[in-house]
Amino acid sequence: MDNKSENDGWKGVPLVDTKAWQASFAHDQSKIRIDVPCPLCGRSELFRWHDGGRGLWQWCGACMVYEHSTALTPYSWDPEVSIKPLGLTALPTAIVEALREVRFL
Ligand SMILES: [Zn+2]
Repeated sequence: MDNKSENDGWKGVPLVDTKAWQASFAHDQSKIRIDVPCPLCGRSELFRWHDGGRGLWQWCGACMVYEHSTALTPYSWDPEVSIKPLGLTALPTAIVEALREVRFL
């Protein structure tokens, strides 16, 4: 689905790392910032964002690995800041921009 030439530097989760990636995102399910190190690069730069519908984005701000999937927003979702990203795509770019605008990042 993604156009590889216009991916803004984002890369998909390597298949071999899928389990570790998902395990990391099992933490802090109500928050944008996840307080565990990235299983791929070891830096504490993991984030998630639910769009309030069925869209879920999970990414590492350090190594720029990301995953966009379909998931209902959990009842526990209680993000640190409220944002309305413009021009959402499968990539986290618009979300990261919106989080920078509110000085969350
Ligand atoms: Zn990383």
